[in-house]
Amino acid sequence: MIKNELDVSLHKTDTLKQKPAQDNLGFGRYLTDHMFVMKWNREKGWHDADIKAYSDFHLDPAAMVFHYGQAIFEGLKAYWGKDGSILMFRPRDNLKRLNNSALRMCMPRIPEDKVLQALKGLIYLEREWIPRGDGAALYIRPTMIATEAALGLRPSEEYLFFIITSPVGAYYSEGFNPTRIYVEDTYVRAVPGGVGEAKTAGNYAASVKALTEAQSKGFTQVLWLDALEHKYIEEVGTSNIFFVINDELITPPLGGTILPGITRDSVLKLAADWDITTREERISIDEVIAAAKDGSLTEAFGSGTAAVISPVGEFSYKNENISVGGGKTGPLAQRLFDGIQTLQRGGCPDPHDWLVRVA
Ligand SMILES: *Cc1c(COP(=O)(O)O)cnc(C)c1O
Repeated sequence: MIKNELDVSLHKTDTLKQKPAQDNLGFGRYLTDHMFVMKWNREKGWHDADIKAYSDFHLDPAAMVFHYGQAIFEGLKAYWGKDGSILMFRPRDNLKRLNNSALRMCMPRIPEDKVLQALKGLIYLEREWIPRGDGAALYIRPTMIATEAALGLRPSEEYLFFIITSPVGAYYSEGFNPTRIYVEDTYVRAVPGGVGEAKTAGNYAASVKALTEAQSKGFTQVLWLDALEHKYIEEVGTSNIFFVINDELITPPLGGTILPGITRDSVLKLAADWDITTREERISIDEVIAAAKDGSLTEAFGSGTAAVISPVGEFSYKNENISVGGGKTGPLAQRLFDGIQTLQRGGCPDPHDWLVRVA
């Protein structure tokens, strides 16, 4: 049950951190002065909601998150709008997705409207941390963990939800350059019936070995194939994947193993607005390679909050290197990147009502 009343108290801190240099923020290196926290138990529902100084947690070593991994999170951004407003991009979709992840992991759902209000309060309080550089933003990380101290396997009966924020630089500080991608044919990310569509911590723990092995071979990311046949394309790293074949935009369908990306959904809707044919269809790695070789595959790119759009210049599959679009960023990837970034900063009309104003 979601209790409706949620009083958020505010405890501002006077000990403010030194703000980092704006030209070298990186991703997630710096954390701001405040955070939002609230607790859940069966008796009280969500309670003790507080915006307070960023600080450590005190957790029992038997806290269930450490042992059984009930942990879910989200990632979204806040930006300075062109007119000096503070904007967030589709934050309700992130909170809704967090609640879907919560259901899958037997965790309590959060009151989306109240949390959105609290999030706005937090972002406004931290507004001086929102970077102003081109492509820079304040990254927002809502998270929920199981905190009950007990060693038997069952859903925890106590949880902590928190939101922390981090100023991040432009993802492409060295230019919007295509990446080299390793097609992973040994490790898998998610199995049918598993937790692939939940943004749950274990999915990322399970993926780092493949990532580090691919990076040690000189690749940026891995392309995940389906777990049963190692044949159908799923995602690229922690992004969704798109292909342009015969001028149509193709992405794998959401079938339980793929994370339903908000950027993915935005790409599909914008492309449809631009009269581009879009298909959510299973596509095999063999079809992608054949299309690259006969020239019908002209672009491939990933989509996600961190990078927005990430063009792919080359795939490596079973020791063969397959170039995409001559290794250059394609026109649709560029148009989507520019279009979404402009929209996120209030620089063009917002026909889908994606922007939420903080102030
Ligand atoms: C978060 C995430 C995405 C992208 O989702 P966005 O909402 O677009 O940021 C894609 N795949 C995985 C595995 C993810 O964790």
